Order: sequence, then C-alpha cells, then structure tokens
Amino acid sequence: RELTIDLGDRSYPIYIGEGLLDQIASYFDKHGLSKKSPLFIVSDSNVAPRFLPKVQQKLEEGGYRVVTAVVPSGESSKSLAQFEQLITEALQAGLDRNSAVIALGGGVVGDLAGYVAAAYMRGIRFIQIPTTILAHDSSVGGKVAVNHPLAKNIIGAFHQPEMVFYDLATLQTLPEREVKSGLAEVVKHGLIWDTEFVDWIDAHADKLLALDAEALGYALYKGCSVKAAVVSQDERENDLRAILNLGHTIGHALEAVANYNELQHGEAISIGMVGSAILGVELGAPQEVYEVTKRVLQRCGLPVRLPEHLDTDEIMEAMMHDKKFKEGHMVYIIPTAIGKVEINKAMSAERVRAVVEQLKKEG
Ligand code: NAD
Ligand code: ZN
Repeated sequence: RELTIDLGDRSYPIYIGEGLLDQIASYFDKHGLSKKSPLFIVSDSNVAPRFLPKVQQKLEEGGYRVVTAVVPSGESSKSLAQFEQLITEALQAGLDRNSAVIALGGGVVGDLAGYVAAAYMRGIRFIQIPTTILAHDSSVGGKVAVNHPLAKNIIGAFHQPEMVFYDLATLQTLPEREVKSGLAEVVKHGLIWDTEFVDWIDAHADKLLALDAEALGYALYKGCSVKAAVVSQDERENDLRAILNLGHTIGHALEAVANYNELQHGEAISIGMVGSAILGVELGAPQEVYEVTKRVLQRCGLPVRLPEHLDTDEIMEAMMHDKKFKEGHMVYIIPTAIGKVEINKAMSAERVRAVVEQLKKEG
C-alpha cells in the first residue's frame, strides 16, 4: 500500500507492506539518496538487535554508506543529552548536507532522530522506519522533539520526513501491551474522521490483536490516511490539527499523575476518549457515541476505567497546566457523532471534573 502526504513541494509517500525492508535499497534509489554521504541510522536497544543488521546489510548491498547509533530504549532517551550525543556521533562519522538521518524504531526514536535531522546543519534529509503501531501516528505529520525535565516535547521542530517506510513484519515482535496501546491511536483516527473505519475496527479487533498482517496493513493505512488528511489541511496546528488531540487532555493528565509508569500513553488516551464521549453525549451527541467508543476500545484490549487511586484534584491540576487550558476554560475535542468531532473552546473545568469522577466508575 502507498499513500501520499500532500504538503505541496514537501509532499511525501508512506509505504506500507510486509517484507518491505528487503527492498529498502531500491526505494532509497528511487528517492535519490546519496551513496557518497553517509546515512545515519538511529535505533534503540530493543529494536536494533532485531532489525538493524538487516537494514544495514540491505543498504550496504545497494551501495550505500551506513553509520549507526543505538540509544537505550524508553522515553528517557528523548533528552537533550542524548540529542547532543547523536550530534557528536554524526560529526565524527562525517555526516554532511547530503546525508540522511533514518529513524528505525518507535515514536521515541522517531522524535529524537527527527530532531537531530531538523537541527544538524540546520536540517538534513530524514526518513522514518516505524516499528510500533503507535508510530503510525508519530511518524506522520512532521513534529519532532525531545523532552525537558520540566515539560514533554518542549524542544522541537517541524521537520517532515521524505518517506515513511512501514514494514509490517517488524510489528510481529511487539510486546502485547505496546500493540494495544498503539491501537488506541488507530481508534482515535477513526473516531475523529471516519465512521466506517470505526465499524471496521469493531469487527476486526481480534485480528489486529493477533497481528494479522492483512488487517494491520489496512488499519495502519487508514490511520495514516486520516492523519495525512488532517495534517495536509493544517500543517502547523492552527486549528483543525487540534482534533488529533481527542482524548489527550484527560490522557496527558493521567499519564502525568501516574508518573509516566503506571499507564501507557494509549491506555491513558483510551480512558480520555471515553471521557470525551461522555462529554459529547452530555452536550447532545447520540448515546451511541458513548457506547460505540467504549465497546471498540474494550475490543482492542484497552482500559476504559480511570484507576480509582489517581487523585481527582491532582488530575485537574495537571490539566490546568496543560497548554490547552486558557482563562478558566479548556479547549476540548468533543465527539458529535461517531467519526465526527468539534473543537469546543469553552469547556468548563467543573464539567470535566464530574466526568473524571464518573470515569472511575466505568466498567
Ligand atoms: P517507543 O518508541 O518507546 O516504543 C515502545 C517500546 O517498544 C520500546 O521499548 C521499544 O524499544 C519497543 N519496540 C519498538 N519497536 C519494537 C518492535 N518491533 N519489537 C519489539 N519491541 C519494539 O514508544 P512508541 O509508543 O512507539 O512512541 C511513543 C513516543 O512517541 C512518545 O515519546 C511520544 O511523545 C511520541 N509521539 C510523537 C508524536 C508526534 O507527532 N511526533 C505523536 C504521538 C507520539
Ligand atoms: Zn497520542
């Protein structure tokens, strides 16, 4: 499967298929990557042992010069220290303006390597090879960043990749919890844009959980298509792009209050999306918005109940600190039907608080 992210002269393709990595060199040839300047592949300590040797070998067989860097797996690698270390390695390896940075891994590696590509010599070529389901979201759209101890994703840039290269075979080794967490963003893309896709996920959740290549390929294609459509219309988050935050206002607060270890990102936004559905129904959406949202998330093995021990005051506090909060009101993405949302710029904190309490009773 192939689709295009339409951004004028910065448009780029997303390739999705099983076993694509075997042909990576020919795709690079097609895109005119340099065989003189080194390619810099960045991966993490879980992904590198599984897939880096193959990627390196296929590229070298195709006549490319390859240098590699492996960072520890986990969010803590999205740091300025790790960024500087990679710049050091890039300089030592002699990367130049015609080089490309290649991210081989999940969203952590994509965001980190992408920021290196955006900053090195004021920006060099960048290619994403996502290896998680969640990365169908993070690899498309051009946002790259590292974290600061005081705030996530606060040091970053917009730097579009020139291709996204999704080999479904790499997903076979994903831990089950990562599979489910990634599916939360797939469901999100359905809920904000495409009723039929939501129905499809509802009917095929078992296949997705079993990592059926045909089903996964379709789900990632559809998920990327929605993200592509939104980003093409609003590259720099002026307005429309905000709808990608469905479930994220509550979700981010939950992740923070749970100290980023108890809840995975996808689990937190799953609970957040149920919260948004409750708000939607309160504001006039049909009851099925709540029922379908909850059912599809549960079919994907995701939680819908907010852990009771997470303190409501702390959750509200964390939301107030979120950048989406302005003058006593929150900007909130609210479903109006399945596959449709609106941006509500005057959501009262009281109402959200009541929903947080209610989420602790979901079953
Ligand atoms: P991740 O990159 O940490 O990957 C999750 C875990 O799975 C890691 O331990 C990783 O080593 C392991 N892993 C990856 N691929 C594997 C494979 N094929 N087999 C076995 N193990 C594998 O996390 P993620 O969930 O992919 O991404 C989360 C990050 O993405 C966060 O930092 C988040 O901020 C970022 N993000 C960015 C955007 C964006 O628009 N830039 C959007 C959403 C999320
Ligand atoms: Zn997300």
